[in-house]
Amino acid sequence: MRDNTWLTEKLIFIHQTYFSDIIDGNEIEVKFGRANRTRLGSIAIREKANKRMQLDRRKMKFLNADEVVSIITINGYFAREDIPETVVEGILAHEFCHFVHGFNSMRPKSFRNPHAGGIIDQELKDRGFGDILKFQKRWIRKNWREYIKTHQ
Ligand SMILES: [Zn+2]
Repeated sequence: MRDNTWLTEKLIFIHQTYFSDIIDGNEIEVKFGRANRTRLGSIAIREKANKRMQLDRRKMKFLNADEVVSIITINGYFAREDIPETVVEGILAHEFCHFVHGFNSMRPKSFRNPHAGGIIDQELKDRGFGDILKFQKRWIRKNWREYIKTHQ
């Protein structure tokens, strides 16, 4: 089984290899969540002192970057080693792009909507992540439905 340390090392590698220009913002954490049929990954922002509570936009204005943490959650299914690592890398990079674009992070917002006009895929392609992205999407398209049916 892959664990949160494995995920953290992957995120660090992706950050250093494809996003080395991104040096501002806030702390970031990554973990496996529950096995879930629909959501591959997600990103949220929390006050460090109160990680379990949702953080609303009004309160966020009064916090500094060092008081918050962005938390990427990856579907628990991806902890299983029969799913290619490249699939996990694609999903991690997608969520990290939201961080880069200022969604659920303290970075300036560069777009109005987190998925506007294919901005994520474009960003990933521009950064040389295109092949990984293509592999990840194809794998999900071809295998996901059957996978969750046969792995409860
Ligand atoms: Zn997204």
